[in-house]
Amino acid sequence: MKLFMLRISLLLITLSSFAQRQTENIILITTDGLRWQEVFGGADSTLLFDPTFTSDTTKLKKQFWASTAKERRQKLLPFFWDTVAKQGQLYGNRDKGSKMNVSNAYWFSYPGYNEILSGFADERINSNDKIDNPNTTVLEFINRQPKYQGKVASYATWDVVPHIINEKRTGIPVNAGHEAVASPNPREQLLNEIQDKLPSPWGETRQDFITYYMAKEYIQKNKPKVFFLSFDETDDYAHAGKYDQYLLTANLVDKFIADLWNYLQSQPEYKGKTTILLTTDHGRGHNPKARWKDHGTKTPDSYQIWMGAMGPDTPAKGEVKHTQVLFQNQIAQTVASALGLNFTCEHSVAEAILTVFK
Ligand SMILES: [Zn+2]
Repeated sequence: MKLFMLRISLLLITLSSFAQRQTENIILITTDGLRWQEVFGGADSTLLFDPTFTSDTTKLKKQFWASTAKERRQKLLPFFWDTVAKQGQLYGNRDKGSKMNVSNAYWFSYPGYNEILSGFADERINSNDKIDNPNTTVLEFINRQPKYQGKVASYATWDVVPHIINEKRTGIPVNAGHEAVASPNPREQLLNEIQDKLPSPWGETRQDFITYYMAKEYIQKNKPKVFFLSFDETDDYAHAGKYDQYLLTANLVDKFIADLWNYLQSQPEYKGKTTILLTTDHGRGHNPKARWKDHGTKTPDSYQIWMGAMGPDTPAKGEVKHTQVLFQNQIAQTVASALGLNFTCEHSVAEAILTVFK
């Protein structure tokens, strides 16, 4: 009898480790170069109180300052802290023993997005040039599965993203830069016109709000199962030394994610069967004296990143503390694993972050 019980419990353990995922859709969202320091600590006084970086310190303090990190991060990223931290997970608070790093040697954007999407750090990818990515990404892998063919898409602010996904080879639609929406509905027509006429502070790259509202229209029309939504202005404003705009952009991205999540939960195709993963491509320096505007190997600690996850298969652990060190190259397999898939291709792929699912 004892042996019988043991067999039954072993069988149950085996079955549960292959449990069917409830996730049928996954949305990966990035905002470029948003530091873990703000995600977990909110506004940084060394930058918020300094008129060099914050033009109206009184106004911005009123909006984002509070005496504790807990209150500050809540003010900056209310959706992260009211919803993701309650129903999902947030990794990367180094002050609480949760570390997440990029594993590439460069600590800037293309190497970071390649690592996020392909699941490995490729030393050949050492610039932000518009070079078509030779690596199979998890998006391409999923798009090749019959169930997901034509159900994978991306909207991005940065005009290099179509090359990172290799839109040409993969056929995955990627709308980025100043690309107009083809066969637009009336709302997309308006967004096309705004994009065309409104001068962008970033030249070849549009503003995040255009990306977001175009992406939302795409999702409403096409109901993709796998979607990569990539924002960029957090990085642009940080490089420009505008801490106030960097905070306002982070706060706006939080609002976009909240709006998207609320929309998803209102749709039968998505409600209760959609996982979202939130992350960034790299970190930045620490403070005015330690290159906060910058990142890359000359900027100490700018390899440090964070990640959030929420969905039907993700236990509500909230702010995760004292974990083993996680790496950016684990995100791709985590995306595949959310759908119950095992991402394999011509290059190695790091293992999924299993704590996202158990
Ligand atoms: Zn940058």
